[in-house]
Amino acid sequence: MITDIPTADEFMQTGLSLLDFAWDTVATLLTDLDDSEFFGVDVPEVSDAFWQASKQRLTTSLAVAQQGVEFALKGRIAAVSPFLLVAGSPKGWPSGCQKRDTNFADFHTIDSQDLIKVHDTVATTRLSDIFISKFENLRRIRNAIMHTVDKRVNIHVIDVVSAILSMYKQLFPTISWVQVRREFLERSPLSELYSSDFVEPRVIWEFSLIVELLSPEHVKEFFGFNKRQRRYICPNCNHQSGDNERKPKTAILKPNTLGSTTIHCFVCDTEIKVERADCPDPDCRGNVLSVEYGVCTTCGGKID
Ligand SMILES: [Zn+2]
Ligand SMILES: [Zn+2]
Repeated sequence: MITDIPTADEFMQTGLSLLDFAWDTVATLLTDLDDSEFFGVDVPEVSDAFWQASKQRLTTSLAVAQQGVEFALKGRIAAVSPFLLVAGSPKGWPSGCQKRDTNFADFHTIDSQDLIKVHDTVATTRLSDIFISKFENLRRIRNAIMHTVDKRVNIHVIDVVSAILSMYKQLFPTISWVQVRREFLERSPLSELYSSDFVEPRVIWEFSLIVELLSPEHVKEFFGFNKRQRRYICPNCNHQSGDNERKPKTAILKPNTLGSTTIHCFVCDTEIKVERADCPDPDCRGNVLSVEYGVCTTCGGKID
């Protein structure tokens, strides 16, 4: 018999870890660049050279992300039957496997180019055309990156971020990527070494930068956050990130009406009651105050 057969969940978890690995690389580049401003670096001046020097990391991240997506697809197929992942006819199986127990990992598994065909043949719900075309595109780029030095492949940070988020959204539509990222950081080596206190400030910082990086359409698609709406400082995230100079404008009125008394933040996924009254600071024209946190969500100033 075949032993050590991986479960659908194990494939999924490996897929998610690879997506997180790719994300961690690009998020670190973004936070490093952002942080340099604090240390007096002229960011617009060095930006081109910084991204040029990051080229290899970006292409590797994209290849890792694609690998993650393939694992997630294998997970979905394994949920029907893991044996569907075994490639080729019995002639090609490990010799003597009918006589002694053989590890699943010793069998060849199906090629990445066949994953969609196998998935859509056996799964109850087929993958969308959008997913398939993005997957094939990503696979082509990954092959160009991994098998040769294709000078035409010029990956930008936004390509990697949107590839990770769009594939994730298609594969896991009900769980927010913010939450997955938070959980990975909580289990990260750094959390084991010290504590997980750094996690929330880090999540807030990363996603604040991502919102600035992506188009309003993408931010809406991936996080359900309309960045075209007037944005407010989330008092909860602001408090969690130590009330520092970077104010996380990650909240919007819900509903978006004149008299609305609730803001919702997509990072901490919290609804916060607000009072519609003018900010005491004469220089601030905000009228959305959080009494609970004692701050104006427009300027971040104290209101009591
Ligand atoms: Zn928040
Ligand atoms: Zn104010």
